[in-house]
Amino acid sequence: MLNINELWEKYAAFKAMDLSLNMSRGVPAPEQLAVSQEMLTNLATAKDCRTDGIDCRSYGLLTGIPAAKRLFAEMLNVNSDNIIIGGNSSLNMMYDAISRAWCFGVLGGTPWGRLDEVKFLCPVPGYDRHFAICELFGIKMINVDMTPTGPDMDAVEKLVSSDPAIKGIWCVPKYSNPDGTTYSDETVRRFAALKPAAPDFRIFWDDAYCIHDLYDEGDKLLDLQSECEKAGNPDLAYIFGSTSKISFPGSGVAAFASSERNIKDAERIISRQTIGPDKLNQLRHVRFFRDIEGMREHMRKHAALIRPKFEAAIEVLRREFSDCPEAASWNEPRGGYFISLNTADGCAGRAFDLASEAGVKLTNVGATFPYRKDPRDRNIRIAPTYPSVEELRTAIELLSVCIKIAYCEKYC
Ligand code: PLP
Repeated sequence: MLNINELWEKYAAFKAMDLSLNMSRGVPAPEQLAVSQEMLTNLATAKDCRTDGIDCRSYGLLTGIPAAKRLFAEMLNVNSDNIIIGGNSSLNMMYDAISRAWCFGVLGGTPWGRLDEVKFLCPVPGYDRHFAICELFGIKMINVDMTPTGPDMDAVEKLVSSDPAIKGIWCVPKYSNPDGTTYSDETVRRFAALKPAAPDFRIFWDDAYCIHDLYDEGDKLLDLQSECEKAGNPDLAYIFGSTSKISFPGSGVAAFASSERNIKDAERIISRQTIGPDKLNQLRHVRFFRDIEGMREHMRKHAALIRPKFEAAIEVLRREFSDCPEAASWNEPRGGYFISLNTADGCAGRAFDLASEAGVKLTNVGATFPYRKDPRDRNIRIAPTYPSVEELRTAIELLSVCIKIAYCEKYC
């Protein structure tokens, strides 16, 4: 039984600690960045800058260096012929994909910008920056609930097959942001077999956490592109990924993979947009990782650094809510960057405010939903990677007190 007076006393004690802790954005801790430091010195001589007969210090190779194509094709489990290696941000490549569809259409279709209405499906909770792109373009967002096996596919199939204004869906298929859910094989096959009413409908498959396992035995995600080909839908998927949370966020390398037709269509426009990407950074990454095994080995080092943080956060949550399981539930992901916590309905905003007042910054409540509106006011995204284990424990203890106060005020 919760006692509100005791909770307020605990809260006052936390406030007296004058905390300043940040669990708001999923960024690596400095120790994780240090694991990639050597990459910055691996192109010391002119000879180092050559690969596949190309001098990476000059223009050329619009779609990336062949060695990077091979590496990223392995990482994303796609064909290295149909991949574009871009600049430093996969989000930028997603934005550009929408921008191309908006201005020029998809494979000769009507530019989306000339249509009366364009809609996207948004599995919720989801990634705020996906939603922000839609908002900027005036694309109407429709929520689809996440389930433990991925988005609610009955809803997705029904909507996509009946409404030609629905042009896309955002997916983070492995260790989703924020739920940490990996889509089941059946979900991936149902995606591949969609029968969209719009011929230019595309699945925006943001595989941002494709090799971000916390444990040796990682979740397995079925390869969407080959499932699409098997289902007779080769052009349905746009696949994105990057090394942002593998090497350096903001200074990593991003990639976009799809069918041959989609890649050619994109290339035509990209060739007017740029003379070529930063090949030196691509080469630095190739030299540093060598191959997918090198990347996996590197990610095991990250896992060793952040697994204790995830485990500490979950241990505190289990302990703090053992006396009132109705006040909160959370996911216990096996990879990725987040823990998604749901309070009882109507409590997240109040808990967020209380935590902020006591010096703990969380991702804004509502950010995980289109238009920043969580219809049940319950989702809180915890980003455990940046703080130390001790800071994290304190922050989650305080957050738990805040959630319990909010729960008591509303329900007790
Ligand atoms: N996609 C997802 C799901 C993310 O969580 C993030 C970063 O948090 C990104 C994309 C950003 O990737 P990039 O730095 O390659 O733009």
